[in-house]
Amino acid sequence: MDFEFTKQQQDVYDAVGALGKDKFAKRAREYDVRAETPLENMKDFFDAGLMGMTISEDMGGMGSGAMGTDPLLYLLAVEQTARYCLSTSHCIHIHCHGAHLVDQVGTPEQRERILGGVMSRGDMLNATASEPGRTARGLYSLVTEAARVDGGYVVNGKKNYTTLGDAVAYNILFAGIKGVPMPDGHIGLLFPKGVKGLTIEEGSWNPMGMRASYSPTLLLDNCMIGDENVLGTPGFMPRDRWQARFHLSFAAQYLGGAQGVFDYLAEYIPKRGTAGDSYAQLRMGEIRIGIESARWLIYRAAALWQRKEIAEAEMFSMLAKHRAIENAVIVMDKAAQIAGSSAFMADSPLALKFRDLRIQTLHENIDKSAATLGKYHLGQSYDVTARL
Ligand SMILES: Cc1cc2nc3c(=O)[nH]c(=O)nc-3n(C[C@H](O)[C@H](O)[C@H](O)COP(=O)(O)OP(=O)(O)OC[C@H]3O[C@@H](n4cnc5c(N)ncnc54)[C@H](O)[C@@H]3O)c2cc1C
Repeated sequence: MDFEFTKQQQDVYDAVGALGKDKFAKRAREYDVRAETPLENMKDFFDAGLMGMTISEDMGGMGSGAMGTDPLLYLLAVEQTARYCLSTSHCIHIHCHGAHLVDQVGTPEQRERILGGVMSRGDMLNATASEPGRTARGLYSLVTEAARVDGGYVVNGKKNYTTLGDAVAYNILFAGIKGVPMPDGHIGLLFPKGVKGLTIEEGSWNPMGMRASYSPTLLLDNCMIGDENVLGTPGFMPRDRWQARFHLSFAAQYLGGAQGVFDYLAEYIPKRGTAGDSYAQLRMGEIRIGIESARWLIYRAAALWQRKEIAEAEMFSMLAKHRAIENAVIVMDKAAQIAGSSAFMADSPLALKFRDLRIQTLHENIDKSAATLGKYHLGQSYDVTARL
């Protein structure tokens, strides 16, 4: 077993930590107020040479992502960003996943055209399957419909929570092929910026937290997508359980978010004059233990992906994510006890961290993650992509 970072991992950890501290943290409040994509942060990320982290080395990327050569590398960047601005870390997470999808399932022409733009211009990508009412219908039961026509698909429907939806070069959106049952009818399509028939629903993003991960609703009205913009073969997402390949970078966000709360307390408590209080000391120790317990599960799960032990990696990633969510929620409760109400004025950094972390830990129903693990150990059929 090796618990040390490689030189490249350490370099990324330090570089993103410095960016977060010097830049992202300072801009966090402003972007929160405006509920806008933190474009300056994304530009800093590109300038630091990190936009292609989940793109393979043959395209000039760093080869990270669940299916890459170093799955941990981009998770470290997500974790470190989350420490200073959770919204920015979600933007980086979703861009990294969009880029990894194109890298892994795109055609040579798509990789050249789309990933070339990421590497040379800092183009952004995303990936959205969410749509209103999906949870009740089931993960792959999409109402947004792609009807086959000569040369491509005509798409109608509505996608919500499209993080970076206004900023990407291509929105990667998932739909159901008209007349083809799921999962075979599940299709990924690349919607180029400015494509006719795609509009943003006005006023569709005004949440309490994660405001700067601008994620509006997109309306699709007879939107024509040519065959050159079909991503992978229909059904690849459910068939290859791609959703499970994204568990860990959610976990990395929860880890970084909890660490950000800890950092704040380590500065705030002594200034407040309560560092000598035994309960403050106890809570700080408990928070530290929780953060480290989540951290090493995430890093362990990344090692399983690297070894291509896919079934183990999927399951262990669910486990790590569950612990990271649960820990983040516990950390907020323990932190609040020792910070006190004065730390929660509406415009305080701690208030923003709490609003973001509470909303961001709602991507999942953690009880369902735990029950999935239980099913596995009881010899029942299970689905590692069961989320809500
Ligand atoms: C900041 C942010 C950014 C996001 N970005 C993206 C993105 O880029 N791409 C993307 O695809 N998605 C994105 N999402 C969506 C996210 O992944 C979830 O799909 C979405 O949050 C689910 O909707 P909801 O939170 O309203 O939960 P709901 O769907 O309303 O579920 C709430 C609870 O009700 C339970 N529940 C709901 N229906 C049933 C039922 N029929 N039976 C039993 N229990 C039920 C669920 O298990 C859950 O516990 C984003 C979400 C957030 C908060």
